[in-house]
Amino acid sequence: MRVHVLGCSGGSAPRRELTSYLIDDVLAVDAGALTTTLELDAQQRLRMVLLSHGHMDHIWSLPLFLANRFQDGTLTCAIRASGYTLETLATHQMNDRVWPDFTRAMTMTGPLMAFQPLEAGEQATVLKRYRVTTIPVDHTVPCQAHLIETDEGALLLGTDTHVTERFWEVANRTPNLKAAVVECSFPDAYADLAFRSKHLTPRLLGEELKKLKADVPVHITHMKPGYEGALLREINALGDSRIRPLHQGDVLEIG
Ligand SMILES: [Zn+2]
Ligand SMILES: [Zn+2]
Repeated sequence: MRVHVLGCSGGSAPRRELTSYLIDDVLAVDAGALTTTLELDAQQRLRMVLLSHGHMDHIWSLPLFLANRFQDGTLTCAIRASGYTLETLATHQMNDRVWPDFTRAMTMTGPLMAFQPLEAGEQATVLKRYRVTTIPVDHTVPCQAHLIETDEGALLLGTDTHVTERFWEVANRTPNLKAAVVECSFPDAYADLAFRSKHLTPRLLGEELKKLKADVPVHITHMKPGYEGALLREINALGDSRIRPLHQGDVLEIG
């Protein structure tokens, strides 16, 4: 499994793309950068988008991405997320006001897209190859992380979260875990803001990492723009050799 980091910033500014991961050209997780980083042919190869939650930095490019898929021969794209997140998209994004309701749109070959609920705690094998387990995490809206496994290995792909137990429980019961991705949005001086917006600071990250038993790389994501320098200093000061700050454009080989 090859995971291409299309974007991993917690905010929008030049040279900072929002959260999106591309897995083996066919599966995406979150839609913060699908149309700003992928050429049209790469967009059309995608077969499924998994969404962690409905916050704009994770979904904004989705309707524009779907609008690029009316070409002859482009296959239906599945959108998999919790019912709450799918309802958010239908009500507040593709609602025939902000953007056309693509849930009913047809291309020359079939439905443009398909909403397929995948609730927190559920497991599913998708695209015949990826075993996906969704893990509820603690954020201001219903939000889920993803454990994505193939026969070669597993990636625990975290997203926006505050302090969480189940995420690490899943990590500790996954023997073929090769890497984890964890957020750290605000420096310690902004602990109150992190608490109110349900994100992590380096101090909280240090506590979280004590829950992880495996000696695997832990990639840090979702730093808010402007705070990256302070965050890197504070994260490095934790002295945990598993930590690897994630960079836009990184490719993670899992297995
Ligand atoms: Zn969020
Ligand atoms: Zn976010």
